[in-house]
Amino acid sequence: MARIPDAVLDDLRARNPVHEVSGRYVALRNKGNRWVGPCPICSGNTASRTAGRFEAAADKWVCAVCCDGGDVIRLIERVEGKSFREAVDTLGGASEPDPEVISRAVQRAEQEERKNLERRNHERARCWDIWSKALPHISGSVVADYLQLRGLDVPDTRVLRSSLEAQYFHPGADGRARLIYQGHAMIAAIQDAAGAFRGLHITWIDLNQINGKALIVDPETGEQLPAKKVRGVKQGNAIRLVSGCENPSRLVLGEGIETVLSAWTVMHRAGCDLSRTAFWSSVDLGNLGGRALETVPHPVETSRNGVSRRMPGPVPDMSVAGIAIPDSVTDIVLLGDGDSDRFLTGTTLRRAAQRFAAPGRTIRLAWARDGYDFNDMLRRDGGRE
Ligand SMILES: [Zn+2]
Repeated sequence: MARIPDAVLDDLRARNPVHEVSGRYVALRNKGNRWVGPCPICSGNTASRTAGRFEAAADKWVCAVCCDGGDVIRLIERVEGKSFREAVDTLGGASEPDPEVISRAVQRAEQEERKNLERRNHERARCWDIWSKALPHISGSVVADYLQLRGLDVPDTRVLRSSLEAQYFHPGADGRARLIYQGHAMIAAIQDAAGAFRGLHITWIDLNQINGKALIVDPETGEQLPAKKVRGVKQGNAIRLVSGCENPSRLVLGEGIETVLSAWTVMHRAGCDLSRTAFWSSVDLGNLGGRALETVPHPVETSRNGVSRRMPGPVPDMSVAGIAIPDSVTDIVLLGDGDSDRFLTGTTLRRAAQRFAAPGRTIRLAWARDGYDFNDMLRRDGGRE
């Protein structure tokens, strides 16, 4: 089949702004020139007003959980499970391009790229500022108290810090960010393969709450907001919580900090030799498996019109880098929590296992009991009373 000329595709993209097309599947909220909300591919609640995993602009989209993104054609491919040609037809088909429409689209894309670069640089500086101002050790801090409240031992780590007055910003109805909460927080450094600082994972702490996390409420809507935020660049990066040595032979990799520290706590208390074992958090589930080659239908869940919901599948897209595993690692243990969508977690772990496969390397999946995460299990079965 003949290749569709780039100019024709640019025209198709210009006629189908990504945020408008996405908005047919999910409820998005406008934040200036961006729109955020639930993901048309992987979100169960397409009307959620607090979901923020999916972000769209006129020319592109990205989902933190799918670990995926691209233009409007890719969106249709993923959401509808269509081929490239079918997606083009769905969007109105390839027609003679209008030069004016194309030149406007190109200009817009260039402007957007410049703004993105400025935003990324600004964000990195902000993250570094927060990190620099936090207490450099967690021993004796509120963070140590928080971990103990969660039934965890406190590791000797350089990637966790304690902040006394971390600021929580949240956009109001006008799209402008406002300071709505300020307080204690656990600050985790996100590092790239070379160990360079790339971003932050922040957990706001309130030791008076049962799970130790701050109760943060949107003053405009009264909705409870997540007590965690990820800033900077997490894709392909990780939080290296515990490093036994420089060249670990075993890596225990899971989604959340508390999950990974639960595994560490159990092994540490059991007296295991952890001198060559590293424990990393992937920041979120999508980043654990990296980008998928294609989406697959969910076995039971359906979305609009009774059509099967599609989710990132088990085959990795190796053209997009995932978390870099040190060559010294010959044994990987992937932690799967049982408290979120079992199907999504399962395909993600299988994708991670394929992605990280290497000659002479063993990859094992460790599952928490159905309906529980590893931290629940630790607190029920192995935690201090
Ligand atoms: Zn998604």
